[in-house]
Amino acid sequence: MENQIPVSSLSFDNTEIAFKHLSNKELKESYWLFKIISNRFLAKVGPVLTKTALFLRMPVSGIIKATLFKQFCGGETISGCTPVVLRLFANKVGTILDYSVEGAAEESVFDQTAQHILNSIDKAVEMPQAIPFCVFKVSGLARFSLLEKIASKEELKHFEAVEWQKALNRIELICKKASDFYQPVMIDAEESWIQDVIDDVAIAMMQKYNKDRPIVFNTYQLYRNDKLTSLIADFTIAETGQFVLGAKLVRGAYMEKERIRAVEKGYPSPIHLDKEATDRDFDASVSFCLDHITHIAFAAATHNQHSCEILVAEIEQRKIKSNHPHIYFAQLLGMSDNISFNLSVNNFNVVKYVPYGPVKSVLPYLFRRAEENTSIAGQMSRELNLINRELKRRGV
Ligand SMILES: Cc1cc2nc3c(=O)[nH]c(=O)nc-3n(C[C@H](O)[C@H](O)[C@H](O)COP(=O)(O)OP(=O)(O)OC[C@H]3O[C@@H](n4cnc5c(N)ncnc54)[C@H](O)[C@@H]3O)c2cc1C
Repeated sequence: MENQIPVSSLSFDNTEIAFKHLSNKELKESYWLFKIISNRFLAKVGPVLTKTALFLRMPVSGIIKATLFKQFCGGETISGCTPVVLRLFANKVGTILDYSVEGAAEESVFDQTAQHILNSIDKAVEMPQAIPFCVFKVSGLARFSLLEKIASKEELKHFEAVEWQKALNRIELICKKASDFYQPVMIDAEESWIQDVIDDVAIAMMQKYNKDRPIVFNTYQLYRNDKLTSLIADFTIAETGQFVLGAKLVRGAYMEKERIRAVEKGYPSPIHLDKEATDRDFDASVSFCLDHITHIAFAAATHNQHSCEILVAEIEQRKIKSNHPHIYFAQLLGMSDNISFNLSVNNFNVVKYVPYGPVKSVLPYLFRRAEENTSIAGQMSRELNLINRELKRRGV
């Protein structure tokens, strides 16, 4: 079988391959950044201090731009991301272009965001191999409180129904353009209390645009105890409706928020009771997608080395091509380079989120990276150990 590699030849410990794209100076900067955000206290108070400083018009944007932003973002504009995109592509890693502005509530901003996403599709069309995907969040195109209201099945007032129709038009425009140019687009998963709305829209878009090929990908958060079931149910809808299911598999980024809300509002938490259950459902979802690989295209979006090893082993056992067009590994820019680049040199399809936008507007994304990483046992120490080992190997 072509493009097969023995799993034994793939090592996620090869730091030379992992950090080949970084100079000594950049590597040292990454080391210090991870060292600082691995401090739980700093990661907790950092966002509060930054927001206060910005409110007081203190010049902190420059500091953020030189640190967190530089590590985790591609640039402030699409063209500003080009060097990062090209650098990844030179190492056989594709980009998921992500206009990462969050938290807006005005219609004019939603229109602007939609335009940015359409522009990101244009950019991808210019360099489709380097940018295989674009991505968007439904809450970037519609008011969060409106999504909450729709999800809770409350009746909408006339002006809200009009507002929702405008949001649907924005989503339709993006997915239609993605389809017209054959440029796949992913829809991020968000908080459980708006996710049903996102899922419904995503399925409707797939029904329309995934007829012969995967264009629209929805996201399944496997830290939720109902999402393996949803994936299987959506596959049945896809089989019946004769479209290709596009699935981005993640564990889920809002665990603490979800649990707190469930306690506050007195409903059972939708999140698995423990990490093992999340891991089990994540790996089971990967297997399910592989079982139906002709009709499901999926991205295993994870920094979990073990899940990646399992996927590599399953691809090999099933004698599937390592670069099968329906299988992607996905990581975030600035994280788990040992996974991304060791997979890409071994001919697997690898993509990385490259978020971009004005520094102030991508702060929620950056804070989530810092906050999420302190809550994930071991992730930061893994990054630090790897960078440390590479610095030693280079003798700097
Ligand atoms: C390319 C990419 C795209 C992403 N897109 C999205 C998205 O659209 N929506 C989204 O929500 N997230 C998204 N994420 C983030 C993702 O959901 C995870 O938060 C993050 O990747 C960490 O999980 P992991 O699989 O990489 O690693 P791991 O370190 O193995 O897993 C950590 C994750 O496990 C889960 N977990 C940890 N402790 C427990 C526990 N006690 N009980 C139950 N579960 C637990 C949590 O989800 C936690 O984030 C994305 C990540 C990547 C790499």
